[in-house]
Amino acid sequence: MAATDVLKPDHAGARRHFIFTEEHEQLRESIRAFVVKELAPHAEEWEETTFPDRVFPRMGELGFLGLTYPEAYGGQGGDYYCALVLAEEMTHSDCGGLNMGIAVHTDMATPPIHLFGTEAQKQSYLVPAIRGEKIACLGITEPDAGSDVAAIKTRAVRAGGEYVINGAKTYITNGHRADFIVLVTKTDPEAGYDGFTLFLVDMDLPGVIREKKLQKLGMHASDTALLAFQDVRVPESAVLGQVGKGFYHVMWELQGERMIGAAGCVAAAQRVFDRTLRYAQERHAFGRPISKLQVTRHKFAEMATKIETARQLNYTTAWRFANGEYPVREISMAKLYASRIAVEVADECIQIHGGAGYMKEYGVERVWRDLRLNRIGAGTDEVMLEVIGKSYGL
Ligand SMILES: Cc1cc2nc3c(=O)[nH]c(=O)nc-3n(C[C@H](O)[C@H](O)[C@H](O)COP(=O)(O)OP(=O)(O)OC[C@H]3O[C@@H](n4cnc5c(N)ncnc54)[C@H](O)[C@@H]3O)c2cc1C
Repeated sequence: MAATDVLKPDHAGARRHFIFTEEHEQLRESIRAFVVKELAPHAEEWEETTFPDRVFPRMGELGFLGLTYPEAYGGQGGDYYCALVLAEEMTHSDCGGLNMGIAVHTDMATPPIHLFGTEAQKQSYLVPAIRGEKIACLGITEPDAGSDVAAIKTRAVRAGGEYVINGAKTYITNGHRADFIVLVTKTDPEAGYDGFTLFLVDMDLPGVIREKKLQKLGMHASDTALLAFQDVRVPESAVLGQVGKGFYHVMWELQGERMIGAAGCVAAAQRVFDRTLRYAQERHAFGRPISKLQVTRHKFAEMATKIETARQLNYTTAWRFANGEYPVREISMAKLYASRIAVEVADECIQIHGGAGYMKEYGVERVWRDLRLNRIGAGTDEVMLEVIGKSYGL
């Protein structure tokens, strides 16, 4: 650029973020095309019925359930950013519950099998999960222990060549439809953080009881279960990872889960922002579009700044994570900030819509109800603040 050129602001710059390549953009387009064509048209229906199991084999067929897993297991062998692309593009379904059900399968329940599983476990669980033939869920939370994971009571007791599992799990996404659960148990209550063990448990085993489908504020397209485990006998080969290391395994899993959740929050916030922008440009009050009111303009400016800040934090943190670092503090910040601003943006979008924002027809209230979960699930705001605060030695 010559010194004499007039510099104009480049508001519409199309340059993609440096973590993404042309291949990621092609993947983005193909996921979006599928989501818009095959999932989004059912969003209303699935709010009533929950989404059907057949979405899993269909997405498996398209390769979307194994984007980051090795080709040897039927995956696509992609990098970590492919998982972000999936989380972002799924928001085009306008169906938060569906997106959560898929994310639990792809980015919460199956990563521990890939990282810690034996070859036999990968063949029995990961391979069919990538094909969408087996549906996965993850059981951490219990009726008496959520944030305080170390307080869980589900026990796995060794008896001969088996383990006998007793306990309960609640709020389990996919719990009613799942073929197997990655289950967090205590194997040695005296051993503190070294007394936890993960198990791969088939959900059709005797003693696994799917108690009730829980009714929720949002995410209606997902199923959420209360589960009981009564004298469930599993072989030693059902241990996932190391006996006694389950707490650390699950803390690792939560980091990936939080990054994916943060990516979904930013994408959903951007989507409701875009939709509301169009609405504000069309809706008139006092003789002009409401978008021309300074107060509305400032609301959009505030929202855009928050969304962009969250996005940059997510991408930079994902870049560190993908390059082998374990940036727990920044992941916690990204999860906390993205969850909060997504809820704030959805709330402001309801306000800009006025009465229409309160009506189901416009779908904005549903975005707010769905996003509200993110300040609770995968670690509450307060837990994220604890992790961040403690990381400074406080
Ligand atoms: C729709 C939905 C789907 C879910 N899916 C799953 C799933 O698939 N698998 C699964 O295992 N779990 C799942 N969860 C559970 C979710 O992760 C927990 O609800 C969450 O971790 C909070 O635990 P809790 O509900 O027991 O709340 P509590 O731990 O009882 O917390 C209650 C309040 O106390 C605060 N608090 C707790 N400890 C502290 C502290 N040390 N400092 C400050 N404040 C604190 C919390 O922030 C919160 O505000 C799901 C939850 C929902 C609602």
